[in-house]
Amino acid sequence: MLGLQFLPQSRLHAILRRKFKLQPRSRSARIGRVVMRGIFVALDLETTGLDAADAHIIEIGAAKFRDGALIETYRTLVNPMVTIPAHVTDITGIRNEDMIGAPKLADVLPRLQAFVGDSVLVGHNIEFDLRFLNKHKLFTEHKAADTYELASVLLPKASRYNLNALMQHFNIAPEGDYHRALTDAIASGRLYYALWQKLLSLPLSLVREIAQLAAPLAWRGTLPFEAALHERATEAAAHDDPISGAFQAALEQPPLLPLATLPPLAAEPAAPLLSAFESAQFLMYEFAPNPSDAPPYLELAARWALQQAEPVVITYGSEALRQRLQERDLPALRARYPALRAQFLHRRAAYLCPSRLQTLRRQGAQNIDELRLLAKTLVWLAEGGAVSAPQPSIRGSAEYSAWEQLSAEAESCTADRCQSQMGGRCPMQRDRQLAAQAHLILADHGTLAAEIHGHDPLLPPFTRLIVDEANLLEDLATESQHKRLDAARLRRQLAEIGDVQHALIGDILAEAAGKLPPKPEASLTHFCNSLAQAAVHVPYHLDNLFRALQAFIEATTDAQPSEFALTIRLTETMRNKAAFDQVRAAWSILGQFTQSLSNALAQLAKQLVIYHEKYALSRQLAFRTQGAAQMMRHLHDSLEAYLNGTRSEAVLWLELSAEPNRGRRLTLHSAPLQPSNLLAAHLWRKLKMAIITGTALRVGEDFGYLRERLGLPEHTLTCSEASQARQALIFLPTDAPEPSEGERYTRYLERAVIELAVTTQGRLLALFSSFTQLRQSAQTIAARLRLGNLVTLDQSDGSSQDALLEGFRAVGKGAVLLGVRGAWDEVTFDEEELQAVLLTRLPFAVPNDPLFIARGESYENAFQHYAVPLAVLRFRQTVGRLLERQRKRIALVILDKRMISRDYAQTFLDSLPPSQIVRAPLEQMAATVRSWLEGALT
Ligand code: SF4
Repeated sequence: MLGLQFLPQSRLHAILRRKFKLQPRSRSARIGRVVMRGIFVALDLETTGLDAADAHIIEIGAAKFRDGALIETYRTLVNPMVTIPAHVTDITGIRNEDMIGAPKLADVLPRLQAFVGDSVLVGHNIEFDLRFLNKHKLFTEHKAADTYELASVLLPKASRYNLNALMQHFNIAPEGDYHRALTDAIASGRLYYALWQKLLSLPLSLVREIAQLAAPLAWRGTLPFEAALHERATEAAAHDDPISGAFQAALEQPPLLPLATLPPLAAEPAAPLLSAFESAQFLMYEFAPNPSDAPPYLELAARWALQQAEPVVITYGSEALRQRLQERDLPALRARYPALRAQFLHRRAAYLCPSRLQTLRRQGAQNIDELRLLAKTLVWLAEGGAVSAPQPSIRGSAEYSAWEQLSAEAESCTADRCQSQMGGRCPMQRDRQLAAQAHLILADHGTLAAEIHGHDPLLPPFTRLIVDEANLLEDLATESQHKRLDAARLRRQLAEIGDVQHALIGDILAEAAGKLPPKPEASLTHFCNSLAQAAVHVPYHLDNLFRALQAFIEATTDAQPSEFALTIRLTETMRNKAAFDQVRAAWSILGQFTQSLSNALAQLAKQLVIYHEKYALSRQLAFRTQGAAQMMRHLHDSLEAYLNGTRSEAVLWLELSAEPNRGRRLTLHSAPLQPSNLLAAHLWRKLKMAIITGTALRVGEDFGYLRERLGLPEHTLTCSEASQARQALIFLPTDAPEPSEGERYTRYLERAVIELAVTTQGRLLALFSSFTQLRQSAQTIAARLRLGNLVTLDQSDGSSQDALLEGFRAVGKGAVLLGVRGAWDEVTFDEEELQAVLLTRLPFAVPNDPLFIARGESYENAFQHYAVPLAVLRFRQTVGRLLERQRKRIALVILDKRMISRDYAQTFLDSLPPSQIVRAPLEQMAATVRSWLEGALT
């Protein structure tokens, strides 16, 4: 369902026009008209399920376009001869009774075939539709283009690539009901035309490069690129590399110098914060949320850094805070302190490595995921993306996995190497250089945690640190050290070594052939041959190892991976099971290969340095070989630690997931057991001052839980700003079913959201515990609210948070926002924007999360001393902030029976600002909330 679907059309268009600022149809539209003189047919199917093997078509929509204009449509229901599942009816609105008199597929297909003829087919995820039709021998030879693939490359900064989000991006209005075949077919056709115009505006040499990269692969975006090349055949291509200007040289700045005179402080600083700076203290400081003000430490930090010429590092936990700091608070601060220099740093994995990019461009992509990512990166660079962000938008695990080949998170990535290879034109090195000259250095918690113990840290030396949103530090420090290994990723790493004709070894031999005298060349060739022969065996043994691991999972559990991944914690007890013997045997063979290869590559790298000095062999080859040796060493050590359990400070687990179209995927995970140890050893003890701050640090009145989780020193001081009483009503239904009661709970939840929305007449934020839960209920809720002229904005369709928020604000009274908890924690709602918040469940950790279980084992009473405080902090982060930010009356409804029945409920209530609490059956909710909002209840 589209998030803005119930907005009046005129209003929706006004929002979208304002938001997306469409380009005028100029040159590209003119070219587009010429190119699109051919006919194409956009196609969409509605089906009873996702798998073409056993699902059935229930509706076909096809739209014929010429010159980008819609000229003819075809639409039919198709009787599937089976019952249509309820969830399909919920999504499409197609009911079983609609099939009375509808034609069967055999009658429909000839008509569809006649309509399409030999036209090119276009669709969003066209592969899905073609699978259903190819099954009936239809369109098996037709050329097809996929708008998802095309958009993924041509819109490198888009946050979503689903059809609805792309329609919003191009201001394409739906022509009919959502999730109906013809509506989606027409939308896909219009989207294709919009993308085609974008494609025609790219530099010709870039179009050519992507078409060449795509040629060996069966990619559904190839056709438009080839057509664009054909269309522009007479255009002269510039000889320059289209991305040559994308990497800016590092900017020189004068060194830091103390500033004698500063303007007076804008506001009186809090005494504990001032004292922390002046007396070099460790302080936990909880402040009351105030969305209109900058964080209370910011100006103090800037003054300190300016006066003392000593940098202050500030870290944050959320994207929302980064955005506020970057776009609002720092510009305001710079206006007062023009000499102030602030620099953001990101995780290494977020930066594009220009050197690796060149290698991949030269070698070409191995598969479609790599190709899509590479092409997207090239378009992003050609559009100047690297200047404003370290990486393009990356969606989905396959693209993330491919990004690893391009990112700067390489073991061998050093300033020295960069200087010699890239002349310093590396975005990561540029930011690092600027950070070394900045007063304030800003980074997320993950970057801080990843950099504090590395051998070549991005962060310059610092002794003063401010950690905002400190309740998120443990999670993000964990994530930064969370390692994932899967067979596909490992195979890709191994492919970088190559053979005598390809990749690293191929490049070494090719270069040596022209530069080395015969004897050293023969010796190098012999060595490389042996190395390549050994490398060729590794994928085979790697597959054996992963097969053995999968067999081990199957032998130790009856569960099947379904929509949710199956996880098994790998403990000593598990390793001692007989079923693990096969794993050990497979590793003992593979481990010999990985160890020998790592040693051989290290030896080769040393030799290449000598050949570089003696015979001017490329130095880059030595660096690449060094990198490959380190990669192999790292791979060996990781698997050794994982399979023989040599890292006691890590939590290890196996995850088996079943992904649509990709089959089963086995991943090995490793994450730190206690990030507090890492923080204590590598961070706190090196600092003079640390301010650990945020709006949710205490559980009740106690800072102890978070202090312990973060490993803060004993002498850390604590302080919290007084929380002001808010005009909040907390309604706790006494008759809520347990969430485990499935359908009964879902119906109850839907009733509660609908009644609350009707009572408040909108201005409601309902936070679901998961996307699955939201998807189950969103359609029902939206349909009912539409009858009451209330507008539903729903996160489950992939609409971006910005678009949803803008729609919510544009509608104002009458808007209901359905979101997933966590995603909205940091969003600032203005006064009067919300009248009510509904929370579906208390935010307890998932009980079978291996990290949660492993960490809980260090507590005598894990539930009371770990699970509850953890959930209370998350609860404060979510609803506490929403209540604190409102100065008008607001109602909070919590649909969790535990708030009535469990002792710990009071701990949750105590963590909120003083509020009016009412416990009553749901049927009293509407009257109670109405009285409260009208001021009748006090
Ligand atoms: S320093 Fe060199 S190897 Fe590292 S990211 Fe930059 S260009 Fe790549």
